[in-house]
Amino acid sequence: MKLSIKIIIGLVLGIIVGLLLNIFSPDAFSVLDKYIFGPVGKLFLNLIKMLVVPIVFFSIALGAAGIGDPKKLGRIGGKTIGYFLVTTSIALVIALSLGTLIQPGAGGGFDTEQASFDGGEEAPPVVETLLNIIPTNPIDSMAKGDMLQIIAFAIFVGFAVAVLGEKTKTVHRILEEGNDILMYLVNIVMLLAPYGAFALIASAVGGFGLDALQAMGLYFGTVVLALLLHAVITYGTAVSTLGKMNPIAFFKGFAPAMSVAFSTSSSSGTLPVSMKTAQENLKVPKQVSSFVQPLGATINMDGTAIMQGVATVFIAQVYAIDLSMADLVTVVLTAVLASIGTAGVPGVGLIMLAMVLNQVGLPVEAIGLVLGVDRLLDMTRTAVNITGDASCAVIVARTEEKHGGSAPKVDA
Ligand code: ASP
Repeated sequence: MKLSIKIIIGLVLGIIVGLLLNIFSPDAFSVLDKYIFGPVGKLFLNLIKMLVVPIVFFSIALGAAGIGDPKKLGRIGGKTIGYFLVTTSIALVIALSLGTLIQPGAGGGFDTEQASFDGGEEAPPVVETLLNIIPTNPIDSMAKGDMLQIIAFAIFVGFAVAVLGEKTKTVHRILEEGNDILMYLVNIVMLLAPYGAFALIASAVGGFGLDALQAMGLYFGTVVLALLLHAVITYGTAVSTLGKMNPIAFFKGFAPAMSVAFSTSSSSGTLPVSMKTAQENLKVPKQVSSFVQPLGATINMDGTAIMQGVATVFIAQVYAIDLSMADLVTVVLTAVLASIGTAGVPGVGLIMLAMVLNQVGLPVEAIGLVLGVDRLLDMTRTAVNITGDASCAVIVARTEEKHGGSAPKVDA
């Protein structure tokens, strides 16, 4: 049986088992979660996370060494960032429109007195994030897993290897072989994915407060609908027109990575799998995939932006505060910048939401209202986040063809 089918079966079984335990036997769930779901899920997560930092370094350094020409690097970078900004803005327009149309917060009955939220850490200002891209100590960046800094260092190293050519051919080979080793390890770890996905989902669904879903059903539904529309319409159209790829084949080919993102709720954690899936199933050349996808996992989060758009409108409705057109534009700008400033790890979207609410003068403690259903939404939006990165990789690869790149295509 194909691995992707096995992963989907793992997901579905995980949902069913989690749901049954949640409804009929919460006690049995606690025991199973402690001894089986929790540890198996964690083992799988640790195994993929183990590969993230070295994969980002090796593949980007190798990619940059292969591209070599700074003009080409600049062109690919420009296209990538342009695509990220445009699609994230579209995502927000969809979210704000649906939120205004469906009015998930207008029904009343929300307990605003009880709402409280302690953001813990604050989202860093965008300027700081941009300045911090150049690491003062690359080893420290790797130890901390600071993705943007690792990307910057890897590009410098790759660039030097390209310029020095013959002199550094041993290092070039080491990068190549290191990359091969890591991709091989991804294959091995992925054999565990069906079990990992099962355990992670059973754990999330089993421990979920179903009554939270009842009160927040309309908000939940609006976010999921916006996510679906954005994936199908925005990415579908972009992939078929600019990327010249059948959108159904695109989604089918990328499905294994989406299901891992869904179970892990982490774009960065899923990175090794999403790169491998794009390279093997969508035939995105390594050079493009290894540049676009790590960057996207860090700065491009359309799904997260959608949650923020709907949540802002929802909270304004619950508190009966009118948002002006200027407020809505502020939401778009802040959310786009917020998504650049934060990393793709579980739950970070909520911290960014605090920043957006602040900008338009809505009460930050209202995040307490959406907190209850956020775990499930996090899974869904993370799948959308990484699909946006993959669609970008397909399009950049296609448009690079006329400059001598090879074409992305889908396996028959
Ligand atoms: N979990 C999301 C991601 O990793 C970020 C978020 O929305 O919280 O892409």
